[in-house]
Amino acid sequence: MTARILDGRALAATLRATIAARAAGLPHKPGLAVVLVGQNPASAIYVRTKDRAAREAGLAAQTIALPAETTQSALLDVVARLNADPAVHGILVQMPLPPQISATAIIAAINPAKDVDGFHPLNVGRLAEGTAVLAPCTPRGIMKLLALAGVTLRGARAIVLGRSGIVGRPVAAMLLAADATVTIAHSRTADLAAECRRADIVIAAVGRPELVAADWIKPGAAIIDVGINRLADGRLVGDVAFEPCCQVAGFITPVPGGVGPMTIACLLENTLIAALAAA
Ligand code: NAP
Repeated sequence: MTARILDGRALAATLRATIAARAAGLPHKPGLAVVLVGQNPASAIYVRTKDRAAREAGLAAQTIALPAETTQSALLDVVARLNADPAVHGILVQMPLPPQISATAIIAAINPAKDVDGFHPLNVGRLAEGTAVLAPCTPRGIMKLLALAGVTLRGARAIVLGRSGIVGRPVAAMLLAADATVTIAHSRTADLAAECRRADIVIAAVGRPELVAADWIKPGAAIIDVGINRLADGRLVGDVAFEPCCQVAGFITPVPGGVGPMTIACLLENTLIAALAAA
């Protein structure tokens, strides 16, 4: 079998065009504020990419860049100002934050109705109970890629490799809400390969280059590779051994060009959702 490649770039472009059309029909542009503290090079690239994508979709994007020595209280003031600004519908504080600032305190201070990352405890709780309006972007993108594949979720066995708050746990909640039978695996899982082999759907979000081998995959399974790993030779690879797994899986996402573009498109979609809810 040769897996069908799920083209996240193309799907994201379609979603961004839909968002742009919806945004253009609104009396006020949906506003997205992205806050960057410090000069982490990877964070700076992410923030620039988000800002550019938002502008291209016709959103009112602003990036607030603060020095690395910003205090927690100063950042809380910025969040309070953005919470109170009616032109700002979505607030994203780029992680990681410098050590003097508690990410938990900052996330809790964001108005849940503007929490386009879906990380506020209220939104996490709503996702767990199946009533989320703003859900985390990467898991939303994953669910759209599974829909693109036409994979039946109801009754399917899904395994999520990784239990982080930004990917593993929320995507497990979404799969459960879609009636899949969900296993969440992590670094203490006894036999990862055996758990994986039972799965019709594999979501790999561990951050370990090419951990998932072809003999872990049930023939015909759908694989969503969330991992982004830079090798010593400069190559970017996922958490899945792509070429060998292509010979076994039914569907697979590439890295790059799979989940990554969908994460950004879903951030724009969350901003549109927040703007529509505020209207
Ligand atoms: P994270 O917070 O570091 O969590 C990694 C998870 O993987 C943890 O639950 C950990 O288990 C588990 N794990 C680590 N090594 C393992 C192993 N050998 N076997 C089984 N489980 C293992 O990572 P994350 O933030 O979720 O990100 C995961 C990957 O996705 C990274 O490569 C990241 O760059 C990428 N990512 C991509 C996007 C995108 O848009 N494409 C978005 C977010 C993240 P424990 O809990 O037991 O430690």
